[in-house]
Amino acid sequence: MLNLVDLWPPWPTQCSRRLLMPLPVDLSSSSRLDAAAVRSGKLTNVPSDHMAIAEYSHGEWRKGRIQAYRPIPMPPFALGLHYAQIVFEGMKAYRRTDGSIGVFRTERHHDRFNRSLRRMCMPEVPYELFADAIHGLVAVDHGWVPDGPDSALYLRPFMIASEERMGLKVADEYLFIVIAGPFRPLFSRPLRIKVEREYVRAAPGGTGYAKCAGNYAAAMYPTKLAQQDGYDQILWTDALTHSTVEESGATNVMFVIDGTVVTPPLTDTILDGVTRASALEIASTLGIPTVERSVTVDELRDGIRSGSITEAFGVGTAASVAPIGSIGIDGVDFELPNVPNGVAQQLKKAFADIRFGNEDPYGWMHTISERSVKETV
Ligand SMILES: *Cc1c(COP(=O)(O)O)cnc(C)c1O
Repeated sequence: MLNLVDLWPPWPTQCSRRLLMPLPVDLSSSSRLDAAAVRSGKLTNVPSDHMAIAEYSHGEWRKGRIQAYRPIPMPPFALGLHYAQIVFEGMKAYRRTDGSIGVFRTERHHDRFNRSLRRMCMPEVPYELFADAIHGLVAVDHGWVPDGPDSALYLRPFMIASEERMGLKVADEYLFIVIAGPFRPLFSRPLRIKVEREYVRAAPGGTGYAKCAGNYAAAMYPTKLAQQDGYDQILWTDALTHSTVEESGATNVMFVIDGTVVTPPLTDTILDGVTRASALEIASTLGIPTVERSVTVDELRDGIRSGSITEAFGVGTAASVAPIGSIGIDGVDFELPNVPNGVAQQLKKAFADIRFGNEDPYGWMHTISERSVKETV
């Protein structure tokens, strides 16, 4: 018999039974959740109890499920492990001040996921599967969402080619998985970044606009070199001339130049950040002028020297808005002033209001609450 139960707020994580939310749920038989430690932010950067998983084969997606977080079966000859047909997303669920939980911009992350997948010859994920997996996982693991103001449950949807096959080919079998864990931003002080003049993250015609695994492996060595020189991250420049600024680490970059927010325009070498797009929209609402145009390294150097550039910051899901305090250009560090209540702070506050508050003027939050689930025996 089908039986309707209310998933929210108390959720019995200690019993194992099958539930039908949008996706069937196989609850973990044990929980690692220390609710107080998670809520207070003491338990961070660990996987939550559950994961969502769905398989693709013979040209179609099979209905996914939510199950205990555990290792995934992966043949050593799985194509994804060798040829990097691997694409991911990074999203967050926030605990709002009214106790409900909100997921930020699921639709937009889904759009980008599919854009990345197309570039890697991987099958697209229907919105329904993407959203059910993410929202269902957050509902089941709601106890893992920490309290604000900076904390969140980090969500990592990803897809990997799982077909076992010798030789290079486009895989016919994939796993789509969503995992999660409580997260606090890494950087609390202004970043020190180094303008990269030698190595390349993304070239025209390449994969820079896709959130595909290979891009990050390729960035590790130059980033390590920069970190050995005392920088936190690299500020990438264009592959051909190394003279215009692109982005930094896993964040897009913005500069305040003569009071205008300036950010490089989207090309196939720049990741289309959800935070970037949102920040541009918020800035406009706040009456701050914005422009998407190229910024050269020379303009950066001259602008910091002359004082026309007052702020630089990274924008991304991980850190929301991360002020940049220093930019290293050809061995010389250019320091940016600390601007109290500057654009970066205003944007950060506006993001926090949307994510943690109860007002959502843009309709960006997907609320996870009061869900009814169908329980099967
Ligand atoms: C994920 C990512 C960003 C930021 O994108 P958001 O959607 O804002 O998190 C920027 N650059 C790169 C290279 C990224 O991987």
